[in-house]
Amino acid sequence: MSGLARLGLTEPWQCVLHLPLRYEDESRVTPIGALSGGEHALTEGRLMHGEVRLRPRRQWIGKLRDDHGDEITVRLIHFSNAQIQALPVGSWLRLYGEVRSSLFGREMIHPRMRISEPGAPTRAGLTAVYPTVAGVAQPTLRRAVAAAFAALDWSDTLDAAARVRLGLPALREALARLHYPQTLPAGDDLAWQRVRFDELLAQRLSLRLARRVRAALAATPLPAGARGLVDALVSSLPFPLTGAQQRAWQHIAADLARGQPMQRLLQGDVGAGKTIVAAMAALRAVENGRQAAVMAPTELLAEQHLTKFRQWLEPLGVRVAGLSGGQKKAERERLAAAVAAGEVDVVVGTHALFQKGVEFRALALVVVDEQHRFGVAQRLSLAGKGEGVHSLMMSATPIPRTLAMSYYADLDVSVIDELPPGRSPIETRVIGNPRRGEVVEKLALACGDGHQVYWVCPLVEESEALQLRAATDAFEELRAAHPGVRFGLVHGRLAAAEKAAVMAAFQRHEIDWLVATTVIEVGVDVPNATWMVIEHSERLGLAQLHQLRGRVGRGPRQSHCILLFEPGLSENARKRLEIIRNSTDGFEIARRDLELRGPGELLGKSQSGQPLLRFADPERDVALLEQASQLAEDWIARDDPAVAVHLDRWLGERQGFWRT
Ligand code: ADP
Ligand code: MG
Repeated sequence: MSGLARLGLTEPWQCVLHLPLRYEDESRVTPIGALSGGEHALTEGRLMHGEVRLRPRRQWIGKLRDDHGDEITVRLIHFSNAQIQALPVGSWLRLYGEVRSSLFGREMIHPRMRISEPGAPTRAGLTAVYPTVAGVAQPTLRRAVAAAFAALDWSDTLDAAARVRLGLPALREALARLHYPQTLPAGDDLAWQRVRFDELLAQRLSLRLARRVRAALAATPLPAGARGLVDALVSSLPFPLTGAQQRAWQHIAADLARGQPMQRLLQGDVGAGKTIVAAMAALRAVENGRQAAVMAPTELLAEQHLTKFRQWLEPLGVRVAGLSGGQKKAERERLAAAVAAGEVDVVVGTHALFQKGVEFRALALVVVDEQHRFGVAQRLSLAGKGEGVHSLMMSATPIPRTLAMSYYADLDVSVIDELPPGRSPIETRVIGNPRRGEVVEKLALACGDGHQVYWVCPLVEESEALQLRAATDAFEELRAAHPGVRFGLVHGRLAAAEKAAVMAAFQRHEIDWLVATTVIEVGVDVPNATWMVIEHSERLGLAQLHQLRGRVGRGPRQSHCILLFEPGLSENARKRLEIIRNSTDGFEIARRDLELRGPGELLGKSQSGQPLLRFADPERDVALLEQASQLAEDWIARDDPAVAVHLDRWLGERQGFWRT
């Protein structure tokens, strides 16, 4: 593959949209005496002396002096004989490079050099420096950009009227300014604004188109059925639905009754009660003689959902089955056959299990829990598969509205913005590791009083094996010290059935104190657990801390979260712990997280992987985002030919992906 292809630069538009990382200013000469360390600069002087030295390593050292008598040293570590022979002593040199100042004065290592004369004219404008990979030199990139610039059809997708209204320059003008500036473009230069606007517009158009393509598909309408299963479930619950749950359900019920596939995201903070709403949706499918599939990101969560769905739905005569990685092959095949024959109404399992070719007889609804775990790509491919199938995504990652607008433009969103009543807020404390012993004693007493404890040993350096050891060590140590307490251990290496057995024992309160790795992070629901202790909490991100803490505070009793940390916190870690201590509001935490980390990371790697925004930042560029969204709606509404042109330029081949 050629160097340019490795950079993804095979089409002219890709080349002109490959924008500079920074610029070099060769437009003015800085006299040697005025150079300061660390800056990149153009300077000049006469070569007074040049020699090859062999110690401490082979290098060429040149000394230059200008008319003021100021001096600079040039050092070449890699050089050819021809190269130094082209630099005779006495010649006047122009140098461009980074200035270093040391004990021995100013120097440049490997500057660009050419023979010149005092006062020779300088190059006009700034020189672009492009992002690159090993083996692709700047001149190659400059040539590719220049060739593309000359070859392109520059018809602007924003007409003159639109540009005036938006206050943005023409695209050609903007890109010329960024590739060949006379003066340094600031971060908020109109040229950058135009590029960001176009990028946001492309992202928005592609998501809206993906949505429209799916909306044009037919789906089985799922109106309220004669069996009245949803009402029966709701009246069998020991609690009334919250207002927010009812509102979300109304949106979902209305979507399901239509002949187009539902594409809805149900957002709600941890513990908001999304699962019951998903169960209601599944029942709508069953009432209509159809099947529903419920997918969870982990085995643990799938097992837990299976238990809940059985408990809620089986009394109503609904046939529920679970597909699990721990099942024997024969067992799984028997289940798959039952699903294909329509002998099962609701199937619960992990995403992976569904990918292994399970055929449904009459699938009408797919529920994806904790969908932020899956990422945009998987979400779109999943939705693309299900001709005629409604999809309900659920997420506990509360992302700010502007980000939601950008990343979920292909979905309708319902928010459960109210927690079930009767929960007392979790009290969070941050405690240094030297006091770990006190914490352990206190928890042993709490267990004696009928409380249950989660004790989480998180990631040690990204290594699952080490994480496992930390958890196992803690488990052994605690168990030895407190024989009166019933300890349990759960981690990712356990077989699914063993994990489920431990969780079930914890749920039944046969275990008081559960030592765990971060496998319990998502979804796990044991209302009697009131203590969450996180060791090395400084190693975790805010979203993860919030998720983990959300495992407690699910019942009527006061819950506590203790964040243990190793003294000597970094500034960022200190801020994170402070944020999590002071707030239990997922949206507030997400907003602060965004300030600390930036949007790409907030959504996790999988999420930001595909619709990568290279230039725009939906949070910073919120005004542009709103304008771009508006224009995207207009274009799509009137089938503007600019849609195809714009997407072609920005997404090229990636478009096919969005259109599935
Ligand atoms: P999440 O939204 O995080 O998935 P869950 O669906 O697991 O939350 O619900 C958390 C807990 O709250 C569960 O024990 C669930 O049974 C309970 N719950 C759900 N809705 C209500 C309600 N309206 N009133 C009281 N408890 C509820
Ligand atoms: Mg959940």
